[in-house]
Amino acid sequence: MDFTELRNKMVEEQLVSRGICDDKVLQAFRAVERHLFVPPEYNGNAYEDHPLPIGEGQTISQPYMVALMTQCLNLGGNEKILEIGTGSGYQAAILSRIVKEVYSIERIPLLAQKAERLFVRLGYNNVHLKVGDGTLGWGEHAPYDGIIVTAASPKIQKTYIEQIKCGARLVIPRGTMLSQVLTVLEKRETGLYASDICGCTFVPLLGKEGWKE
Ligand code: SAM
Repeated sequence: MDFTELRNKMVEEQLVSRGICDDKVLQAFRAVERHLFVPPEYNGNAYEDHPLPIGEGQTISQPYMVALMTQCLNLGGNEKILEIGTGSGYQAAILSRIVKEVYSIERIPLLAQKAERLFVRLGYNNVHLKVGDGTLGWGEHAPYDGIIVTAASPKIQKTYIEQIKCGARLVIPRGTMLSQVLTVLEKRETGLYASDICGCTFVPLLGKEGWKE
């Protein structure tokens, strides 16, 4: 199977055609080998237009949703970004190709271990992983130039707002367990500015400031 061809086709047919236009995002999608981030039995499906199971009842998101959320962070290239919900590690790998440092938290140890092994193997040295409850953020390395939450949240956590810099964005799917709205919140000197981007469906964000486990 020619994965490079499938990847380029995915970029044109699923991303460019739907309005993803940030060149840095498109380049990252052309480079990251998505088929390495899915279980072997799904290798051949890795570039299809939908989420896939990654084990432990979790999913790797649809490529378009990963691209849209990344584009919503409005990245310049020099940022330090926090991701909540490492899962397969694919979103973190995309970010690592664009920004300076990526911090990522996963609550399921097995998924974190698999992602960590992949980062080492593929040389994604600017991704820093931790196992824990991401609803509390990662205070040690704050403030961040952006936070991206890749699981469905019942609310916008105060902690996330506290842990981003002025001028930075929080990208978060918020709503019920069954359906959410992708929301971008910008922190400015003059206050917080939220915009709703589109409807979406993520697995739940479980934890102290998320849904009950
Ligand atoms: N970003 C991932 C990727 O690229 O594969 C996909 C994330 S998957 C849709 C959501 C992930 O969030 C799951 O792996 C889940 O275990 C994790 N998660 C849920 N609640 C969490 C929490 N409180 N802290 C950290 N991770 C959490």
